[in-house]
Amino acid sequence: MDEYYEKRRRLIERLRDEFNLSENVVRAMIEVPRHLFVPPFYRSEAYNDYPLPIGHGQTISAPHMVAIMCNLLDLKEGMRILEIGTGTGYHAAVVSRIVGEGGRIITVERIPELAERAKEIYRDLGYENIEVVVGDGSRGYEKEAPYDRIYVTASAPKIPENLLFQLKHGGKLLIPIGDFVQYLYIVEKDEHGRIHKKSWGAVRFVPLVGDEGFDD
Ligand code: SAM
Repeated sequence: MDEYYEKRRRLIERLRDEFNLSENVVRAMIEVPRHLFVPPFYRSEAYNDYPLPIGHGQTISAPHMVAIMCNLLDLKEGMRILEIGTGTGYHAAVVSRIVGEGGRIITVERIPELAERAKEIYRDLGYENIEVVVGDGSRGYEKEAPYDRIYVTASAPKIPENLLFQLKHGGKLLIPIGDFVQYLYIVEKDEHGRIHKKSWGAVRFVPLVGDEGFDD
């Protein structure tokens, strides 16, 4: 148990009660040491429930947003996941603990320095079911498709066609859409390949920059 364990447990138990989190999300968030992912300067703030700067003009989402997104994705052991926007690597680490050794998560980041740092942390923690890819995630990651779940941690102008294409039938995609005003969308591809989408509510994310995202 690390020095922040109690603080982390208290935060996650509060989030569980507030957002009715499933037990697998709670367990994973208590397991993953968020303080190792945030820049050292902000380490003591890692278990306060707000976003933090991570350099390169980017942020790590607030813990409640990670919890809510994991809950909405309805993650199960053994699933194959695609994350767009690695950032610090924290969110993907939580997902990797939920899908377990039989599952796999590919996370795509456009800023090579952030991707490199996340890789190092995964190596140190021994998280082996995560692959970090540098590139434009608005195109998805065709090589390992299709995915049970895809989620995007940056806001896009519209739902990227590539992501819909790379989603399995019966799969779910979670993506914030919009510029100044953003909504988190839950998109489901049914067994016949038809797309159904609904908005979860207003959110605030950095922009998705790329081919099917915003201009740089
Ligand atoms: N999930 C992250 C975490 O746990 O720290 C936080 C992600 S941060 C809110 C959004 C990230 O998306 C940034 O690191 C940004 O560089 C990245 N991003 C923006 N556009 C992208 C794109 N087209 N492909 C891949 N990553 C992108």
